Amino acid sequence: MSRPTRPTRPPQHSAPKVSAPGAFDSKATGPDIADLDASAPKASAPKAASPEASAAKATGPDIADLDASAPKAAGLKASVAKAAGPDIADLDAFDPERPCTLCPRACRALRARETGFCGAGASLRVALAQLHHGEEPCLSGPACGPRGSGAIFFSGCALRCAYCQNHEISMGGHGRDVSVDDLTALMLELQLCGAHNINLVTPSHFAPQVRHALLLAKNNGLALPVVWNSSGYESVATLRSLEGLVDIYLPDLKFMDAQAAARYCAAPDYPRVATHALVEMNRQVGALALNAQGLARRGLLVRLLVLPGNAGRADLALQWLADTLGANTAVSLMGQYYPAHRAAQFPELNRSVAPAEYEAVRSRLEELGFTRGFVQAVGSGPDWTPDFRQK
Ligand code: SF4
Repeated sequence: MSRPTRPTRPPQHSAPKVSAPGAFDSKATGPDIADLDASAPKASAPKAASPEASAAKATGPDIADLDASAPKAAGLKASVAKAAGPDIADLDAFDPERPCTLCPRACRALRARETGFCGAGASLRVALAQLHHGEEPCLSGPACGPRGSGAIFFSGCALRCAYCQNHEISMGGHGRDVSVDDLTALMLELQLCGAHNINLVTPSHFAPQVRHALLLAKNNGLALPVVWNSSGYESVATLRSLEGLVDIYLPDLKFMDAQAAARYCAAPDYPRVATHALVEMNRQVGALALNAQGLARRGLLVRLLVLPGNAGRADLALQWLADTLGANTAVSLMGQYYPAHRAAQFPELNRSVAPAEYEAVRSRLEELGFTRGFVQAVGSGPDWTPDFRQK
């Protein structure tokens, strides 16, 4: 894999520039972009010999090393068969010969022979795994710390937003096919590297295989909180298959306007689907709970990206959250939008968010009584994000 000439961004729901943890910060300050560049780990790290050594290097396993790391996963299934824990025999195995209805698209692709709307075929496909310092502080820990969130970025996406800042992997197919054992090994290696959690980024179209890998990893020593980091466009049935395996749900709530969801994502059902999904997520994990160090251990954290002109109606999203899940829900209000991918085809999206537009949503957040979460500085720079094509 070659490096691009300019940095690419992670998915919008994966890497906000955030303010202080805990209560909303009226100053909306965040880690300095230059500091993040300097501290960001590279994905080309060697595998860990010990947790201490790996944490000191502040790196994560390299996708390119999967062939070498796969032997670490050898025998995992045999170990699981003997181990206490969820019964692997109960797994609903993913059958790529059957029409796929894993996500709300329900495109019924026969993934053994074709790719679905999400771009996924029969194989798991991962773009990057690394210790990631760009998430909210309750996930990444201190910005200058040697650890971070153990992020695994999956290739493909069922939502395919027109303005996606990470279209290379969400729609461009960037990544590498991996086995369930490979994925299990990645999770265990991120733990060895000192990750605060296992952060599964856009995993929904691979849910059965990810569930399988989580069962294997947990039965072989994975003790970190598991984060399900998604667009919010989720099937409730698929989410229910994850109950007990996911500790922290980290969904976007992108649109409360069906016309906007139709225009930018061809998903007019997004408001209905996502709100149902968030109710299910909240049922499973409840309000966000932090440990004494301020790190998330369990619960729901909802990301709201403010679009130009508030096109997604983040104000209505806040109203719905307050009315349905309560103002105790933790919210991450994001101001990092910039035009990307096909945004130029939509004149109203082909600009940055005006500070006044962002402040209006932020004021609404305060009026509704939200007190838990994070507020991002508006207009984060594009040079802050990790490079998904790095080796
Ligand atoms: S997960 Fe992908 S293949 Fe399956 S229904 Fe959704 S878009 Fe189609």
